[in-house]
Amino acid sequence: MLGSDALAKLIGAARRAVIFTGAGMSTESGIPDFRSPGGVWSRMKPIYFQDFVADADMRREAWNRAFSGVAGWVGAEPNQGHYAVARLVARGKVSSVITQNVDNLHQASGIPATQVLELHGNAGYATCLDCGLRHELDVLKQSFLGRGEIPVCRDCGGLVKVATVSFGQPMPPAVMRLAEIETLACDLFIVLGSSLVVFPAAGFPVMAKRNGARLVIVNRDPTDMDDIADLVLNTEIGPIMAGLAPAD
Ligand code: ZN
Repeated sequence: MLGSDALAKLIGAARRAVIFTGAGMSTESGIPDFRSPGGVWSRMKPIYFQDFVADADMRREAWNRAFSGVAGWVGAEPNQGHYAVARLVARGKVSSVITQNVDNLHQASGIPATQVLELHGNAGYATCLDCGLRHELDVLKQSFLGRGEIPVCRDCGGLVKVATVSFGQPMPPAVMRLAEIETLACDLFIVLGSSLVVFPAAGFPVMAKRNGARLVIVNRDPTDMDDIADLVLNTEIGPIMAGLAPAD
């Protein structure tokens, strides 16, 4: 495949690459693209951060959703694309993965958590909105389902929320800063499975390109940024990445 050869050459020539992933990375793990027709946001209204903070009924509804498995992907596992990306990280070719996904599958594929920059947080645990303490979901689930208790922080009494970035909630500044540093330090920026429509996340490929990096977009469908990319591959991610970074 020509496109695959071109990508192999770009990876081979890169000194320091960054990979940026979106929903398309995980659809091959059975995780639906939340924004697609039939996705969860077409079936229920999102709960905005301000409403979660202000209204106990909204918090109860949010926790109901969190524990009812309505998102439908609890127990998903990394696919061959995740493992290929993990090999590129392990080989020192890719310095970090910037992801819009909250499914923890990059970490589950073996990438150290410090090299996964989660722009939209992580759905696998919860944090206190006041002191930042991490809370495990299975512990919260027991008291919520068993006694109807809306989770609060065991340390400070603050509100506890699943550690994803909700609609209306600011992006985590420290992660955004790290993602910017990584983007400006790379000479190859590879987008995997993002339609690049959600800002500010989608600003990173533009930033990389303006800074002189090569830009590659691998996505099932065309994106608005194909025009500025050095290479665009409209294909599934797993097979092509597994071919580029085969297991030893
Ligand atoms: Zn707290």
